[in-house]
Amino acid sequence: KLENATIKAELGRASWKLFHTMMARFPEEPTADDSLALKTYIQLFARLYPCGDCAAHFRKLLDRYPPQTGSRNAAAGWACFVHNEVNKRLGKQEFDCNKIGDFYDCGCGEEKKNEGD
Ligand code: FAD
Repeated sequence: KLENATIKAELGRASWKLFHTMMARFPEEPTADDSLALKTYIQLFARLYPCGDCAAHFRKLLDRYPPQTGSRNAAAGWACFVHNEVNKRLGKQEFDCNKIGDFYDCGCGEEKKNEGD
């Protein structure tokens, strides 16, 4: 089958959206198990991402810049950084990582959800 750049880009946008939104909701003070779960997720994401070429490039980035999963800030900052590395390789503009604070909102409301719901 022929490559379709439109579909490939759409998959990229959807994937980055989930990726960054997940970081934005990662605990500020994760347990060791939370941090391991995120690190494992990122590694499996890089292994299974459907565009094989993209995944191979991304795995090289992970080797060079290992996932930072010690806190929400570290994870979100790391994800922004590696996305920018992909942006650079594709000749896209870099994103200002100081602005990721409120940019990714899951729309799911309250952060603490086990208080009487
Ligand atoms: P995207 O890069 O998809 O970004 C979507 C939105 O996220 C932007 O509009 C902006 O609002 C925001 N954003 C941009 N940069 C950042 C950042 N650093 N941090 C947080 N938010 C940001 N495509 C290829 O052609 N070749 C590849 O090798 C390739 N590798 C990829 C690897 C991975 C792991 C992923 C997830 C995608 C890959 N893609 C690849 C797709 C590519 O990165 C883009 O998603 C696609 O080209 C669409 O680009 P876009 O300009 O719409 O913005």
